[in-house]
Amino acid sequence: MPFKSLETFNTVTDRNVLALQEAKAAGRKVVGQYCIYSPLEIALAAGAIPVSLCGTKNDSIAIAESMLPRSLCPLVKSSFGFALQDSCPYLAASDIVVADATCDGKKKMYELLNDYKPVVLLQLPQIQNEDAALYWRGQFAGLVARLEKEFSVSISREKLLDAVRLTNRLRRALKGVLDLARRKPSPLSGMDILSLCFRASFMPDYEQCIALLDDIAREIANAASAEAQTECPRILLTGVPTGMGSHKVVQLLETCGARVVCIDNCTCYKKVLLQMDETRDPLSELADRYLATHCSVMSPNPHRYEVLEALARDFQVDAVVDLTWQGCQTYDVESWSVKKFVREKLSLPFLQIVTDYSETDTEQLKVRIEAFLEMLA
Ligand code: SF4
Ligand code: SF4
Repeated sequence: MPFKSLETFNTVTDRNVLALQEAKAAGRKVVGQYCIYSPLEIALAAGAIPVSLCGTKNDSIAIAESMLPRSLCPLVKSSFGFALQDSCPYLAASDIVVADATCDGKKKMYELLNDYKPVVLLQLPQIQNEDAALYWRGQFAGLVARLEKEFSVSISREKLLDAVRLTNRLRRALKGVLDLARRKPSPLSGMDILSLCFRASFMPDYEQCIALLDDIAREIANAASAEAQTECPRILLTGVPTGMGSHKVVQLLETCGARVVCIDNCTCYKKVLLQMDETRDPLSELADRYLATHCSVMSPNPHRYEVLEALARDFQVDAVVDLTWQGCQTYDVESWSVKKFVREKLSLPFLQIVTDYSETDTEQLKVRIEAFLEMLA
């Protein structure tokens, strides 16, 4: 069903690159970020615009393979390929890049990226406990000092708190839209969800983004109950980040007859879980909350199961599909435990899909997905 507010959102976000370039021309700095662990709030408190840089396109992979191993995950290769080709306007606009030492492929790629852009590498602990959170706070304090120096600004506690309040509003607005898919039937398709989250991550004006998301939530909340749709199998997609260009599996699931109602990854629902306590010391709160993100680079990674259980219940899903990019060892290994958890604890059907950004396996995946959906029926 076409929603006017969604069309408006698409029209406005079609101008994301232009809007970023205008803001830059007006003197704003731009901080490129690759991972959900990089705090938006520190860039915002420095007066800069944070933009997402994760590579989601197949086109930039061939050139990346001239320097990186072919066996590496497509997300790492695509991201690096953009730097080699100088073809990403968001990377081009970035005055500095903030990166996190997450998986091996990413952190080694950042060493090479440093030849193309100044990179601040945050040393992410890979366990979630108090010592690690304290260490992570120290990394954030280092980032504050670096951005203050680079941009000749002062990042006060008050500015950080303002940034925390702003991102809380943004995440609440995004959650308000994503949670519409809890309804049966869901008024949003998985492709709507993915496109919306992806576009929002490049929007330089957060206030405008909040207003547009609120409009979408309002319009769909009023319209959805009037719409009679046939219910399809409801899928919770979990695993690696996806975006427009790496949307193959979301699209295939839906063309085969399923409805992706929730996407538990860094592009989509993981973001809205980062709600900050506005009464605490902002750096400590940022460190604690960001570190709690349930990425498979954490060992152990207990929050992944807690979140899966809550999302499966809240979105009333019929099955869980775990997407893994080829070459991603952490998500691939973790998939075994996720499968066990989903089947035994949640009593839901489970399918793991390992693929890349190319179209070469589309037919093969289609056959597997169709068989899985038939089994659900
Ligand atoms: S899945 Fe993990 S490593 Fe990948 S973008 Fe998200 S936080 Fe970063
Ligand atoms: S998908 Fe896996 S290998 Fe690729 S960047 Fe994320 S954690 Fe690293």
